[in-house]
Amino acid sequence: MRFLPIFLDLRSGPVLLVGSGELARAKLRLLLAAGASVRWHATDGQYDVSGLVAADAARIEQAQGDPSTSDLSGVIAVLCAGAGELGPAISGRARAVGLPVNVMDDLQHSTFIFPAIVDRGDVVVAVGTGGASPVVARRVRERIEAMLPARIGDLATFIGRWRKSMHGRIAEFPLRRRFWERVVDGPIGALVLAGREDEAEAALKDIADPSAFAGAQAGEVKGKVTLVGAGPGDPDLLTIKALRALQDADVIFYDELVSPEVLDRARRDASRVPVGRRVGKVGIGQDAINRLLIEAAQSGQRAVRLKGGDPFVFGRGGEEVEALREAGIAYSVIPGITAGLGAAAESEVPLTFRGEALRITFLTAHKAKDAETVDWSTLTDVKMTVVVYMGMTAAPAIRAGLLAAGRSPQTPVGVFARATRPDSQAVVGALENLPALVREIDGGPAILVIGDVVAHSLAWREANLDSLISNYLVAAE
Ligand code: SAH
Repeated sequence: MRFLPIFLDLRSGPVLLVGSGELARAKLRLLLAAGASVRWHATDGQYDVSGLVAADAARIEQAQGDPSTSDLSGVIAVLCAGAGELGPAISGRARAVGLPVNVMDDLQHSTFIFPAIVDRGDVVVAVGTGGASPVVARRVRERIEAMLPARIGDLATFIGRWRKSMHGRIAEFPLRRRFWERVVDGPIGALVLAGREDEAEAALKDIADPSAFAGAQAGEVKGKVTLVGAGPGDPDLLTIKALRALQDADVIFYDELVSPEVLDRARRDASRVPVGRRVGKVGIGQDAINRLLIEAAQSGQRAVRLKGGDPFVFGRGGEEVEALREAGIAYSVIPGITAGLGAAAESEVPLTFRGEALRITFLTAHKAKDAETVDWSTLTDVKMTVVVYMGMTAAPAIRAGLLAAGRSPQTPVGVFARATRPDSQAVVGALENLPALVREIDGGPAILVIGDVVAHSLAWREANLDSLISNYLVAAE
């Protein structure tokens, strides 16, 4: 680390800006937005302030004369942007009097650099790369932006207002810290983040004994369970809410289908408990999972039940919610991208298509036995896309059922394995060959998509299978 991030108090004096053109104006906007007063030395004499609101423009002082001898008295920092040759000379002067100076895109003559900024009022995050890559800094900033609740700045301001008076009422430092942790992590913090500051303030005023509030940790704390959809594998497909829940969790109960990359996004010190079953092996069973969830919440933990795809799509999330409700446990559900949607996006299969596919059916056929119970006659509409979960073993039965019900043997089908993961695989062909296509897959999980829209897929185009579909269309006429 060459540059230490520190925060400059902009009320302590003006910033000297030397330069002109769009570069200088961009810095001018940044400084004014942050509340700075700016002594501006426009090197081309053009003090163009169009587009600035009057209150901001009023904080600009136009400096005259030779910029390299400009008045530095009272100045708190010096900035050269679009100053050309003048930059190094001005940098030399600033350093001679010990002023921090930045010459844009010139590390050699800069003693400070500008970070990428996340600005949420009192909460400001600065991201730097030592000047190496502003693009990387911006990407990091975007991630932080996405993670922070919108009102996090309000929460800091709220606590700032109360800190002094509360500290008078809680003697020891560790207890004070616990007090604020409980405020931030508990219902009061949640109220502020929800924009209900009046209620938060009333709740805070209601705390009769702050020390007891801070100390009343064990036993009383109410735990909860959040069912979180982990998506099909790519961790970037997690929702922002899911990411937040993972970052907040004390314990995570996860399925076999959850990718290690997703688990990697969880809070470092959250415990991780696998509760899934592998194909062919029994898991601990749904009742045992329900019990684990209930016990975790009852012991005051924030438990996350992390499930592949979406919790409510073939994920038994409904049963877990029922068990939690019966046990009186607080819970919530965060949706995830279900495997069918993940595979469709990755493989470019539009599940609906004007005039071609007007309905989608999500179906599960785990064993041949399940396939026997499906009423295939409801799935013969040629304008319907059928997405089959857990359908690898039952592929022969699925083919038989659809053909017997009258769907064309030439109907395009796709088998999409390990979708959205680095080793994803797509195999496409005709319904009559479905079992053979499934055999080409080197390991699940895999999803089957049946319907004309599969002919739009990347794999279909690459395999040049259009002759197949034109035959099919002729046959269908
Ligand atoms: N709740 C999950 C589905 C669980 S059932 C969801 O919404 O996606 C398990 C089945 O999901 C697997 O047998 C497979 O058919 C499908 N599946 C899950 N992840 C997948 C992936 N990355 N690629 C393809 N299919 C997947």
